[in-house]
Amino acid sequence: MDGTAPSRDDLLSSAAVIVDQPTTPAPPEAPEDRVTFGLSAFDPRPSLMAPSIAPPTSTAPYVSVVVPGLNEADSLAELALRVDQALRGRFTYEFIFVDDGSTDDSWAVIAKIHAENPLVKGIRLRKNFGKATALTAGFRKAKGDVVVTMDADLQDDPADLPSFIAKVQEGLDVVVGWKVNRLDPTNRLVLSRIFNGTVRSLTGVKLHDMNCGFKAYRREVLRTFPIYGDLFRFIPALAAWQGFRVTEIPVRHHARKYGTSRYGLERILRGFFDLLSVLFLTRYSKKPMHLFGLIGLVFTAVGLLINAYLTFLWFFGHKIGDRPLLLLGVLMILLGIQLFSMGFIGEFLAFQMQQRHQTDELPVREEIE
Ligand code: UDP
Ligand code: MG
Repeated sequence: MDGTAPSRDDLLSSAAVIVDQPTTPAPPEAPEDRVTFGLSAFDPRPSLMAPSIAPPTSTAPYVSVVVPGLNEADSLAELALRVDQALRGRFTYEFIFVDDGSTDDSWAVIAKIHAENPLVKGIRLRKNFGKATALTAGFRKAKGDVVVTMDADLQDDPADLPSFIAKVQEGLDVVVGWKVNRLDPTNRLVLSRIFNGTVRSLTGVKLHDMNCGFKAYRREVLRTFPIYGDLFRFIPALAAWQGFRVTEIPVRHHARKYGTSRYGLERILRGFFDLLSVLFLTRYSKKPMHLFGLIGLVFTAVGLLINAYLTFLWFFGHKIGDRPLLLLGVLMILLGIQLFSMGFIGEFLAFQMQQRHQTDELPVREEIE
């Protein structure tokens, strides 16, 4: 398998096989008797209800390896070969390459590899949407009981795949790779340390590298959350919050063989925003009033105190109309009421979502009947 592009006809014939029809089933009907607050016409977008992973089929492989890639044509052949060497004869598997709008030969190369090994499949996004969207597209197509994600650049070592699968077979739900000897530029290492330390202390999930691209999931985990934006980086935190068993295993890590990192340092900044979202989602998404209500209460109370003090002065004949403090008091009361209202809207939305999801699976691990 070399990296040269096949002819156009080769491509056209194999590309037709590669792109599957969407397999997402229609969302389940909402129960008839749910309380709707007179909003029965309100219907969230169907995509919100769609499972993040394809339904299993009788011919489904045991393992799905999902690989997002942007301009990784040079490494794909070697990667597919080494994944095959690691898994063939041990597990049934599929290799799903998601081409995230590459401008190099990646798609042609994957079509060529597919012709030789039909277990290698491809999805091509219309343009570069980022790793999150690429992974989501891969998850939708993945049919395996175990879904492994790995980078396309050969920095993750396919020889580690069996250890990931073994952990899932042991009963763990999410297995995160820990790059013990990480071979990336020093500035990346330092920033990543700081980031991971913050994530560890704020989420309480003790992982060395939550952001590692090399991870394995029991398919149930991916069915549980809608994965959007860049939140996929925090799936271990979200999963732990839902009671899934999360662990990490040491993995080998190699320096990038071809090209440079597809990311700049702005990723860290965005990571912190995502961290804030995750903290909010895991702590308050079911009870937003506990956050907004509390802050609203503090603001309103301070505002009322200030204005009570000014009213007191006013009764004793002081002029208060030109006091900046009056402005502050009024502002605090208004902000407090606004925060309260946000809390109510949040509660209302949380309640609505709860109603819609009543028929969904409960977080039950096992049952005795
Ligand atoms: N990647 C992608 N879309 C993007 C950026 C990156 O699919 O917009 C892929 C990339 O091809 C690689 C993986 O995500 O397979 C990790 O990217 P990279 O190796 O550049 O990140 P690093 O290893 O430096 O963290
Ligand atoms: Mg890399």
